[in-house]
Amino acid sequence: MERENVWKLYSEEDLKALTNLSEGYKDFLNHGKTERECVKKTVELAKKHGFIDLKDVIEQQLTLKAGDKVYYIGMDKTIVLFTLGQKPLTEGMHIIGSHIDSPRIDVKQNPLYEAGDMTYLDGHYYGGIKTYQYVTIPLAMHGVVAKKDGSIVNIVIGEDEDDPILVITDILIHLAAKQMEKTGSEIVDAEDLDVLVGSQPLKGEEKEAFKKNLLAVLKEKYQIEEEDFFSAELEIVPAGKARDCGIDRSMVASYGQDDRVCAYSSLAAFLDAPEVAYTSCLLLVDKEEIGSVGATGMQSRFFENAVAELLNVLGEYSELNIRRTLSRSKVLSSDVAAGFDPLYANVFDTKNSAYIGRGVVFSKFTGARGKRSSNDANAEYLAWLRQVMDEANVGYQSAEIGKVNVGGGGTIAFIIALYGMEVVDCGVPILSMHSPLEVASKADIYEAYKGYKAFFKAK
Ligand code: MN
Ligand code: MN
Repeated sequence: MERENVWKLYSEEDLKALTNLSEGYKDFLNHGKTERECVKKTVELAKKHGFIDLKDVIEQQLTLKAGDKVYYIGMDKTIVLFTLGQKPLTEGMHIIGSHIDSPRIDVKQNPLYEAGDMTYLDGHYYGGIKTYQYVTIPLAMHGVVAKKDGSIVNIVIGEDEDDPILVITDILIHLAAKQMEKTGSEIVDAEDLDVLVGSQPLKGEEKEAFKKNLLAVLKEKYQIEEEDFFSAELEIVPAGKARDCGIDRSMVASYGQDDRVCAYSSLAAFLDAPEVAYTSCLLLVDKEEIGSVGATGMQSRFFENAVAELLNVLGEYSELNIRRTLSRSKVLSSDVAAGFDPLYANVFDTKNSAYIGRGVVFSKFTGARGKRSSNDANAEYLAWLRQVMDEANVGYQSAEIGKVNVGGGGTIAFIIALYGMEVVDCGVPILSMHSPLEVASKADIYEAYKGYKAFFKAK
């Protein structure tokens, strides 16, 4: 069966709501190019809606009741938010989890060098990228430098109109005969993803004058020394703002929409659903693009710890209650789906593809080579979700990532399913996933928002 394009169904009111949502989304993208920035922006929006820090609740021994709203941050890179429902927490939560890290190039821990009378920062890519997509485009550097004295220097270079941008160069076409014969993965060697950051020497210096000049600039502008790169997290990302895309402005083009499109649409739905029967929980995690590892990734105990703390504040803490709360929960693992691209139609199964403009996508399973490593959602859960989505008039579709054995991918779904919860992948279809300029339909973002809101409010 074919799903209808949702644009055809929109009223004037829908179009207005859709435009409002996409404006908020673009602002979120512009202020959230790293996981840390996304956490900061999320807290800012949550506070405006009356959320308080669960750590303050614990410290000040406050009590919580239905309708109260709290957030809990992990290492400034992951965050979980709760809106307490009418029902006891142990009856389970309605959880939406997405990730706020995106593929990029990280600056190495000993990055600075000079060559050919220029200065470079050596990079190490993070997540799955086509290396050739990152050369000769405007780049920005976002991140933190943690100093020995405990202070943190926040850095954003390349976003303001007056800012300089950074760039990774490519060989001129005139000398590229050999390069053009290489396979895609070899065209730009990953070790050559080094960012050009300077070309002026320090006057009066004989040795390493170019590097020394750059260090002098860094010292003056940011009070950092070469050694401080040791304890820095600096991310090289495409520079510039999220933009409307298409002559009809029906889409958004931006870096980092995997998975901030799901993070933002679920956050907006979460903030707009203040009264819920079941406690609603929004989870924004880090490190999905490198396997959900580390203390801030989905595999960490961070989420479980947050639930334990919340149960404790409610006076209901026990090992059994944690297990009950988690296993009785329902989850949407909200991550992007591969939008059908007619220019590359041969990698898709057209009957089971996610079409731009046909609404939010449910993927019963992901994985590769025979559904390996995927959470294969329960039919019964999907049936319940159909009911919830239909009642709220949400446009939705079912899809898998591509043709069988052509490729594959994963999400946080199988990790969160370890608690014995009902989980299914549900997100926005995008084009050019993992590229410096991903594209999403405003209609799909709107349907995701509507679907997420219906899910939080479901009884
Ligand atoms: Mn993703
Ligand atoms: Mn991804």
